[in-house]
Amino acid sequence: MPSTPSSVSRRALIGGAAASTLATASVASASSAYAGSSRSVRSSRSSRSSRPRGNVILLALDGFDREYLDGRVALPHLESLLRRGSLSRSTGVMTSITNPSWTSVACGTYPDRTKNAAYWFDTAAGVARGQSRDSAVEGIGQSLRRQGRTIGSSQWFILQGKGVDYGDPQGLYTQPGGRIDARVDDAIAMLTGQPVDSGGTIMTLPEPPDFLAVYSSDVDGDGHSWGPSDPRLLDTLRETDAAIGRLITAVKDADLWGRTTWLVTADHGMSNWRIPLGSTAIERLAAAGFRAEYVGSGGRVSSPDTDVVFVGGGSIASVHLLGELAGSASATARVAEVFAGIEGVSGVFTKDDQRAMRMAPQYGELVVETREPYALFVTVPAEAFDGRHGGRAELDIPLILSGHRVRPGVAPRSPRHVDLAATISHLLGVAPPAASEGRVLREALLPD
Ligand SMILES: [Zn+2]
Repeated sequence: MPSTPSSVSRRALIGGAAASTLATASVASASSAYAGSSRSVRSSRSSRSSRPRGNVILLALDGFDREYLDGRVALPHLESLLRRGSLSRSTGVMTSITNPSWTSVACGTYPDRTKNAAYWFDTAAGVARGQSRDSAVEGIGQSLRRQGRTIGSSQWFILQGKGVDYGDPQGLYTQPGGRIDARVDDAIAMLTGQPVDSGGTIMTLPEPPDFLAVYSSDVDGDGHSWGPSDPRLLDTLRETDAAIGRLITAVKDADLWGRTTWLVTADHGMSNWRIPLGSTAIERLAAAGFRAEYVGSGGRVSSPDTDVVFVGGGSIASVHLLGELAGSASATARVAEVFAGIEGVSGVFTKDDQRAMRMAPQYGELVVETREPYALFVTVPAEAFDGRHGGRAELDIPLILSGHRVRPGVAPRSPRHVDLAATISHLLGVAPPAASEGRVLREALLPD
C-alpha cells in the first residue's frame, strides 16, 4: 500500500454545502473557465515568455501491472492514448515498492542515491520502518519550480513539500482521497480554472499548470486485497479507464488537447501470494541456532535474545543481524543458506547484490525475495489470494507516451523509471532534477 497519510476524503471532512458546491463545480465541463480571465492569463504568460507551449500530464497509477493491458478487459481510453503514441515495457527500481519507486521517478535516479527505503529494520532506533517520503536528492517538483514552471498534483503525494504544497498556486497540492474519480475531479478543476480544495483552502488556478500529476491507488489497493488475477479487478481497471476518459474529455473541452503530452505509468507491478513463509523461516533459523523474529513496520523485537530480525515488504523481506552477529560475514552466510533452502525463495541478496541493483543502503545484511505464490509474512491472506510486490518480478511496468510531441507508433527503447524526470523536463524546456541520471526518451518524441 502507498503511504499516503489519509485515504479519508477531505471533502467528507470539510463537509456540508462547501463540499457539494465544490464537487458540482469540479465535475462540470469548464471549457470556458479561462475565457473570462484572459487578461490574467496573458499577463502571467508574458512573464514566463521562455516557456514552451506544451504541458505534461502524468497519470501515476499505483500497482498497474503491465499485464493488465494484455486485453483481459477493454480499456478504450488508455487504448486511445497508446494508439496515438506508444506503449512500452518500462523498468522500475528495487525494491519495487511504492515510495522508493515514485521517488526514483521524481528524482531520475536510483534508491542508492535517493536513499528512500521501505520495510527495513532501523537497528539504531530498534524499530522496523515502513515507507517514507525521504529523499536525499532534488525531485522534479523542486526542479520545475526552481526553473519557473508551474505544477499541479492531485494526490501524487511524493511531490508534497517538494515543490507542491497546499494553497500554493505555483505548485498546488490536493489530496481528495477517495477513488480515482475524486482525483480526476481535482485535476480537471486545476486544468480548467475551477475552484479546488487544497488542504481546506479553496483555490482557483489562473492557468493550467505546466506539469500536472494525477495519482490513483485503486488498482494497487484492490490488487492487494484480491490478487491481480481476481475477476473483480477488471471492474477496477474499467473504473480507472473511465476516469481517464473523463480527464481526456475535459482536456479536449478546455482546448488543451493539442498542447498536452501524456505519460501514463505505474510504480510497480503486482503478483499473487497465498502461502506465508515467515513461520517456516523462523523454524529453520532456530534449527540452525538463530533466534529469529518477524517484525511488521513500526514493530520492535520482543526479546533481547533475538539475533535475526526480518521485516516483510511483500515479495521481499529485509533481514538484519542484531547484537554480536551484526555485520558478521560467517553468520550472514549461514542465515543466507537457511533462506536459500526454503521452497519459494527466489533470491537472497547480499549487500554486494543490493549495491549492484542500486538499492537503498538501509536494507539489512540480506534481502530475501520470494516467488509466487509465497511471501515472507506470518499470517495467511484474508482471501484465497492476495497481491504483493517488492521484488524483481514486479519491476515490469507499462509506459504510455501520447499526444503533443510524441511520435506515434514509435516506442522508446528500454525505458526506465529513472528516464521519466529527464523526459518530462525536456518536454517542458528545462533541465532535469539535479541528480537525474536518466535519459530523455528522444526516439519516441518528435524533434523539437
Ligand atoms: Zn502496493
